[in-house]
Amino acid sequence: MSGARQNALGSLQTTCAQLGRAEVRPGQAASFAEVTAPCLSAAFAFEDLQAVDEVYEGDKPGFVYSRLGNPTVALLEEGVAALEGGGSALAFSSGMAAIATALFGLLSPGEKVVAHQEIYGGTRSLLANLLRKWGIRVEFCHLGDASAFRRALDDGAKVVFVETITNPLLEVLDVEALAGDTRQMGSLLVVDNTTATPYLAKPLSMGACLVVESLTKYLSGHGDVTGGVLCGSPEVISKVRETRDILGTALDPAQAWLTLRGLRTFPLRMKLHCDNALVLAKYLSSHPKVSKVFYPGLEFHPGHRVAARLFGGRGYGGMVSFEVRGGRDEAERVLRRLKRVNLVPSFGNTATTVSHPYLTSHRGLSPEEKEALGITEGLIRVSVGIESSSDIVEDFQRALG
Ligand SMILES: *Cc1c(COP(=O)(O)O)cnc(C)c1O
Repeated sequence: MSGARQNALGSLQTTCAQLGRAEVRPGQAASFAEVTAPCLSAAFAFEDLQAVDEVYEGDKPGFVYSRLGNPTVALLEEGVAALEGGGSALAFSSGMAAIATALFGLLSPGEKVVAHQEIYGGTRSLLANLLRKWGIRVEFCHLGDASAFRRALDDGAKVVFVETITNPLLEVLDVEALAGDTRQMGSLLVVDNTTATPYLAKPLSMGACLVVESLTKYLSGHGDVTGGVLCGSPEVISKVRETRDILGTALDPAQAWLTLRGLRTFPLRMKLHCDNALVLAKYLSSHPKVSKVFYPGLEFHPGHRVAARLFGGRGYGGMVSFEVRGGRDEAERVLRRLKRVNLVPSFGNTATTVSHPYLTSHRGLSPEEKEALGITEGLIRVSVGIESSSDIVEDFQRALG
């Protein structure tokens, strides 16, 4: 790893390790709480009418009402902005709340969104059902296909939506190149960075206009938070903030506090998720009962070179998908025989979990749509945890038999 990269990682570690320290040292006492307490107040009290004026006009710092802003949520937002490498951040009650609020805030009826064909099921439903119902034009295509992408942007798209690493097939598109093309066409690139996280990629520095992270996954990292966050330029964020204030999709301060706690160990956890995932992916690709392995860290993965460049050698993510020979029956047999690994339709917790995309995240698609995407009944997605890698491999070895 180069010196510059090591410094970047070192500063990420330092930023995270120091998140959530108490900043305010109350007047009289000779000591103060080391860790910030969550501020659960729904509303804030003012000294007098002059203070009301000053806070509402933004002349003095202060909070009004937690739907509009809260000190613990603000602390998390500052932390996330630092992790994303700049801009302003806004936190939401879930990743979907973040995406929905952003798109409702940025788009008007008649405008168009172009999205990559393989995206999170919830985002797909939002685009294909809800946004279309409100008169927004939506087109799905493979954004890695340059001519399809140009065609889709031809009649003027306001927003282009993509994920850094797709799920469950773990494709890696060249976000840097997409950002350049998107800007040239006058569109805004929105990148869902939930699977890559700012440990691997900072889409704003690659030219994206807005980045989305589901806090529910790696950022909180312990499976006990539901939340989401957006980060972007102050102008874009202020537009989305107005929409968040109206819709009431802000994050709950207790969840913000838990996320701050989880974030302190985020770079350490991510390193282990990535290291262990590579070990498991290599093991699975040599197993006779496994027909396909999807992991960008494997040299034969079609996105390997792009991933190596975009992720700067820090790793290739914590998720591995594989297909067993024998379809659903064999997948069922493997899932039943795993001892240490639970079947959970989420990812990013410390413990390794597996999911079955065909029956969970992509359940809403028709069998033909799933086949076209390559999501089969034998496909198993692993969220590789931070246990010892030999324990993880041993469990899959036993289950595959
Ligand atoms: C989980 C997830 C979301 C949605 O986040 P929630 O917190 O569950 O609402 C969005 N995008 C991706 C890639 C996800 O994995």
